Amino acid sequence: MGEQNPGGAKKTAKGTKVTAAKKSAAKRTTTGRSARAEAADELTASAEAVGGKGAAEESAAGKGAAGKRAAVKKAAASGQEAASGRAAGAPGVTGRAPKPESRTALVRRARRIDRELAAVYPYAHPELDFENSFQLLVATVLSAQTTDLRVNQTTPGLFAKYPTPEDLAVANPEEVEEILRPCGFFRAKTRSVIGLSKALVEEFGGEVPGRLEDLVKLPGVGRKTAFVVLGNAFGRPGITVDTHFQRLVRRWRWTEETEPDKIEAAVGALFPKSDWTMLSHHVIWHGRRICHARKPACGACPIAPLCPAFGEGETDPEKAKKLLKYEKGGFPGQRLKPPQAYLDAGGIPAPPLGAA
Ligand code: SF4
Repeated sequence: MGEQNPGGAKKTAKGTKVTAAKKSAAKRTTTGRSARAEAADELTASAEAVGGKGAAEESAAGKGAAGKRAAVKKAAASGQEAASGRAAGAPGVTGRAPKPESRTALVRRARRIDRELAAVYPYAHPELDFENSFQLLVATVLSAQTTDLRVNQTTPGLFAKYPTPEDLAVANPEEVEEILRPCGFFRAKTRSVIGLSKALVEEFGGEVPGRLEDLVKLPGVGRKTAFVVLGNAFGRPGITVDTHFQRLVRRWRWTEETEPDKIEAAVGALFPKSDWTMLSHHVIWHGRRICHARKPACGACPIAPLCPAFGEGETDPEKAKKLLKYEKGGFPGQRLKPPQAYLDAGGIPAPPLGAA
């Protein structure tokens, strides 16, 4: 039975309006992108608005180290607002299951994160001291399972005694082992650096080859090492999937892959090739300084609003600040001879071996 009261006609008109709105919403959902994807985009856009724009712009404006610190502080403060997971794909305030993020939104968010990190670390660079491709190759092999600082403290002695592949190829292994002892795994590393030096002399005329397929044939050289050398000694784009890179890209939900080769391919597909080398530095620097394995300093993180993992670490800004490492926490970087851009930005070189 229909309604008999005088308001009946009005109610019907209102009902028609609601039905039309519902239909139009349904149409949008079925014909265009899914409502969930749109919601994910909106979340991303809102995160971008809340997010590190200030950090990026302040740093880009060239305000120096103080400006960058302020940017980190500002972004960290806004990061608190992201505690409920503003980034797409993060659990929302309602506690509902994470919404899927569209491919487009993921690419936009990933590139946004890289831009923010580039603003925070405009001077990012390889943290191994080197003067030529041979030194970088050897230093990268030595850096497995130890810090770049330890390698930087060790290589001056090694290269003073064996400056070229020809010298190291004919070195006495026991003498090299003694020099490399502080780097750990010194016997295996000695075998690798002598072996790769021999291969360079015998197969490449004493020169480091500039091709991936040649580099990975050298003893102790995998794709990660090869990309470090290609990217930083030859200017050829490469993604360096080290332990920091693996941890961070998974926290950011850039990929669910766990094998380095697959991570490399998945992340590489989100960025233009020309960005790969610097992207690797930005991610690794962030992993070393702020987004640590055990206690990420979320409350002091410039990309908190874009990060689905915000809250995995300390969210209180004051407590988070104490977790910062290297120059952002008042400690030096890892290079004994850092690039000028790093020094100009207020970075501090590592202390020489034996210094307090
Ligand atoms: S998990 Fe890492 S990247 Fe994400 S907010 Fe925390 S410190 Fe930042």
